[in-house]
Amino acid sequence: MKTRVISIQNPVRQAEEVKEAAAVLRSGRLLGIPTETVYGLGANGLDTAAVRRIFEAKGRPQDNPLILHIPDASWLDRYCRSIPPEAAALAERFWPGPLTMILRRRENVPNAVTCGLDTVGVRCPDHPVTLAIIRASGVPVAAPSGNLSGRPSPTCARHMLEDMDGRIEAIVDGGPCGVGVESTILDLTASVPRLLRPGGLPLESLEAVLGEVAVDRAVTAPLSAGEKPKAPGMKYRHYAPKAPVTVVSGGCLRSARYIRKNLGPQIGVICFDEYRDLFSGCVVRSIGPASDQAEQARRVFDVLRAFDESGVTAIYAQCPSGTGLGLAVANRLKKAAGFQVVELGE
Ligand code: AMP
Ligand code: MG
Repeated sequence: MKTRVISIQNPVRQAEEVKEAAAVLRSGRLLGIPTETVYGLGANGLDTAAVRRIFEAKGRPQDNPLILHIPDASWLDRYCRSIPPEAAALAERFWPGPLTMILRRRENVPNAVTCGLDTVGVRCPDHPVTLAIIRASGVPVAAPSGNLSGRPSPTCARHMLEDMDGRIEAIVDGGPCGVGVESTILDLTASVPRLLRPGGLPLESLEAVLGEVAVDRAVTAPLSAGEKPKAPGMKYRHYAPKAPVTVVSGGCLRSARYIRKNLGPQIGVICFDEYRDLFSGCVVRSIGPASDQAEQARRVFDVLRAFDESGVTAIYAQCPSGTGLGLAVANRLKKAAGFQVVELGE
């Protein structure tokens, strides 16, 4: 199968392209979709056979459920029950946007989507073309990130094609993703809302609406053998380039000095822009200014992906602090490192 690229650069033809993309979904085939977070691998979320194809195309473990994408909050009630008032308040404030809510599911949501859980993750993505495609298809779109399982998530159509060419029917090229890390996952079925995965919506924004938010241990720490996180996906090594990664956490200057001491001919470095010159002669990729977490989020997956062509044998990474979008960036870097972290302090 040759994967078709449906380009939406031409606004005059857009209506036709939306129709073409919706037809792919309705026929049970797989479609790459742009969102503000990362590219997704979409299928009709009510069609068990189509959903199973997502797992095959990605090589995704069978116990890792998918998120349903809907065009607005009025669809929540179709697939979820016992919806708490907080869900409406959060949708009103943050949708469309990078927030996934875990809610009790209705019977019409296939087990293939939830992997047998009695909850379902739902989100409304902030991308006009993808919203138009979902509306035109008339079904919720089940979509994980559009990478092969274990690889960094794709933030442009070209990266998704690297992983998925020949495995899916088509990909909609909607340009580069504005946020760059996946959605924040919040479990609203617990007595206190619980952050299961940090993402494009900062924890502080949720706290401003909800007050208390619990943070799942899997967000910041490695799991012990046999331990089950609430978001099954958090237990897998993820986002990993081929070379092993070590995250060096702590003050910027201290981490930069530490990495400099460990340099060698085939060492790769991920650093903030300000420290780039310290590592000349190595394979260096900067993730943005130390103070610009939005830029770090946009670049983190591209940087991890780019090392695969560089031939490095080990990678050291500076790491933002855990506030704002830094919590999501630090989580992705630590997961890429399999939680191999050197803690230096400030
Ligand atoms: P991805 O789309 O690749 O970002 O993966 C979706 C993430 O959502 C994975 O980490 C899943 O474990 C998580 N997820 C999806 N549905 C649920 C659910 N019902 N309960 C908890 N986590 C979920
Ligand atoms: Mg993923």
